[in-house]
Amino acid sequence: MSRAAVLRSEKLVDALLDWFDGRDRDVPWRDESDPFAILVAEVMAQQTRMESVRPYYHRFRERFPDAASLAAADQDEVLKLWEGLGYYARARNLHAAARVIVKRHDGVVPSAPEALRSLPGVGPYTAGAVASIAFGAPEPAVDGNTRRVLGRLFDLERPSPAALERTARELLAAAPSRAAAVNQALMDLGSLVCTPKNPGCERCPVARGCLALGRGTVPERPAAKKTAPKRARFERAVATRNGSKTLVARRRRDGLLGGLWEFPSVVSANEASHVSRRSLATDIERAFGFQVGIGPARHDVTHAFSHFRLSLEVHEARWVSGRLPDAGDDGSGERRYAEWAWCDEMDLERIAVPVYLRRLISSGALRR
Ligand code: SF4
Repeated sequence: MSRAAVLRSEKLVDALLDWFDGRDRDVPWRDESDPFAILVAEVMAQQTRMESVRPYYHRFRERFPDAASLAAADQDEVLKLWEGLGYYARARNLHAAARVIVKRHDGVVPSAPEALRSLPGVGPYTAGAVASIAFGAPEPAVDGNTRRVLGRLFDLERPSPAALERTARELLAAAPSRAAAVNQALMDLGSLVCTPKNPGCERCPVARGCLALGRGTVPERPAAKKTAPKRARFERAVATRNGSKTLVARRRRDGLLGGLWEFPSVVSANEASHVSRRSLATDIERAFGFQVGIGPARHDVTHAFSHFRLSLEVHEARWVSGRLPDAGDDGSGERRYAEWAWCDEMDLERIAVPVYLRRLISSGALRR
């Protein structure tokens, strides 16, 4: 790096740290020094707003104060504590990571970036965040906010991950003893000032050194990643009663919503309400091998996932005959469930279900 580039980095970092040190942000894990707490916080905060994370973080930490307690827990309990936070692969991976930490690292979160990156679900961002925040290592942690700030500060149109890492390392080299503060200042600047729309350049601490501001390219920097439009997915589920019990099925652990329970459902090619109740009963029998009678009551649920929009009809139904598929293999269903169970109302409260079903269950609409 040239002398001029070094001087520029030093000025930017000085201004950034002055701003960071002078403000107070109520983030529950900012004062944490426990690497396990920081790992939990960083995993929870991915793709999730701080306000949503806060109560989950406190509950999770209370129940699992260290890697050993998380490693020893049943996955059902971990998923239940995560219920509503979304992106459940994070919970499953964090659980698996705790087991690796116990098995290979004596229950202590490793400090080396390579060892961190070898933990399940820990990518370059999380490894860099934990290495810098928990251990003070000058490792970059480039999340979406930092990508945007760096893209604008250095006027980068389509920065590759490698280019962003290099740029972040250059800034960290200007204050290696304050790596945690530099990384967090970049993230905070991106979430509070250098926002995607209407960035607050007039109150930005690094405006004087911002290349995109000087060149008038702020709105185009960095260029937005292309995202495919969300496709629609239609499903029909049956909330099947037999006496006081309701039938639920657990999704396989290796996929979307893996390990969560739901009312067994089938996918429709078209908007589900165009299909008759009789045809739904036939589809259920074909998929799972048992017979149900579909009642008139129906509850419509929608939910936006990252890649598709789900329209789900939950039909109230009654058990007629047949046997439940074997655990671990339901044979011919489009979605293969790992386990089946009859639940009373208290069980339904206890099991982990997707947030849109939790809302339906808690509304009391299914009670009779
Ligand atoms: Fe972002 Fe504007 Fe600050 Fe540049 S001057 S870093 S565009 S807020």
